[in-house]
Amino acid sequence: MTEYEAVIGLEVHVEVKTASKMFCSCANDFGGEPNTRVCPVCMGYPGVLPVPNKKAIEQTVIAGLLTDCEIARFSKFDRKSYFYPDMPKNYQISQYDLPFCEHGRIKISGKGFSGEDIGDVTIGITRIHLEEDVGKLNHFPGYSGVDYNRAGVPLMEIVSEPDIRTPDEAYAYLNKLKQIMQYAGISDCDMEKGQMRCDVNVSVRKAGTEKFGTKIEIKNLNSFRAVHRSLEYEIWRQPEVLESGGALQQETRGWNDDRGETYLMRVKEAAHDYRYFPDPDLMPVTFSDEEIENFRKNLPELPEAMRERFIAGFGITDYDAEVLCQSKALALYFEKGAALIKTPKLLANWIISELLRELSDAGTDISGCRISPEQFAALIGLIENNTISGKIAKDVFGEMFKTGKDAQAIVKEKGLEQVTDTGAIETLVDEAVANNAQQVQQYKDGNAKVLQFFVGQVMKLSRGKANPQMVVQLLKQKLD
Ligand code: ADP
Ligand code: ZN
Ligand code: MG
Repeated sequence: MTEYEAVIGLEVHVEVKTASKMFCSCANDFGGEPNTRVCPVCMGYPGVLPVPNKKAIEQTVIAGLLTDCEIARFSKFDRKSYFYPDMPKNYQISQYDLPFCEHGRIKISGKGFSGEDIGDVTIGITRIHLEEDVGKLNHFPGYSGVDYNRAGVPLMEIVSEPDIRTPDEAYAYLNKLKQIMQYAGISDCDMEKGQMRCDVNVSVRKAGTEKFGTKIEIKNLNSFRAVHRSLEYEIWRQPEVLESGGALQQETRGWNDDRGETYLMRVKEAAHDYRYFPDPDLMPVTFSDEEIENFRKNLPELPEAMRERFIAGFGITDYDAEVLCQSKALALYFEKGAALIKTPKLLANWIISELLRELSDAGTDISGCRISPEQFAALIGLIENNTISGKIAKDVFGEMFKTGKDAQAIVKEKGLEQVTDTGAIETLVDEAVANNAQQVQQYKDGNAKVLQFFVGQVMKLSRGKANPQMVVQLLKQKLD
């Protein structure tokens, strides 16, 4: 069979995190009773006037600068006419020929969904424009309802160039985009809440040829994993059709996650005529060079910069910094705790090996953690000043994770303070020596490894509380 290559372009919608909606003062929130966050403006009553949300426009410009886009000095909102119950006005306010941002790029690298390294790849950004979100249809037996709480929420559309070649690259691109949005505070990109949504365009062509093949659009993808799987499926299906003598047509396909298959939704007959025209109720938006420069000077810190800062400032490894900066919330958590202790490296180890494991077992992330960074720092402090051993600290941590209690309180309550009293440890050393005459002989015969056995015995007698360095020292004194 001929080798085929995939050509992929993504259209990603991201809800902008603002206090109010795009053109009215209704709250921009998730959930709640249907149609409780609506007003004459977002319900499209006649005679109302939209007022643009400045913050949403600024956040779009920032998104553009963070993705190397050119920012339009002159831009406008257009009406996109269509008739469907999710939009009470029968047009959506969007941007047509003069979007806020164009000609950008996102650099991706690292591992894709399959764990395979993708190398260093640059994906072009065609444009980022700002529009208003639409309502949500809910289907019940025998009827459907529409909830307009989401109608009018500021929504960015980020369109990529057809530069993506593999499902792994698509996966890495989405992750990077999400990371940028989260770090910049533009959106939480919670896919379960519909804050980030993705349409996928994919075609195949014979390897080595230039011309693009027929583009298929896939909709209803509600996870990055679904994007990856549906792409793998299409990259298998399309060559199958072509090789068996069939032809592809431009169509929109859905994704059935249970069956792991795409299915035909509709064939694109003719280009939609949305009759775009400039919204006469909204003034064009202009920016001076100076204003753009000001945005550029105050851009939020991205993960790369934060990683560098952590490595230099806290003395942690590249790997630790990479893991900790995976999510901004986790990075900030670490940063807060690290500022309070002597050995930030120790906190990094604890977060990466213990906390992340517990969080993943509990099916949550740092937002669901009951231990505050201050509490975690206090636990590390108890290890640093030898109040408890690293081993006991693991039990204390387990208890903190479950209950959210302070380390100090758990240590007190359970009497876990490390024993550093020479007399008390000596008593235990004597006991261990007296109980193990055979091992004493082995040690005297020159088997130095037996010392470890005695350390174990003394630790056991102390129920893990003896200071290990002191135990070794006193054992040596006794046995030598
Ligand atoms: P439409 O007019 O159908 O919306 P666009 O040209 O605006 O199509 O492109 C929409 C998305 O599809 C973009 O992300 C673009 O990169 C991607 N795309 C365009 N042509 C192809 C193709 N032949 N194969 C795969 N993706 C494509
Ligand atoms: Zn409203
Ligand atoms: Mg298009």
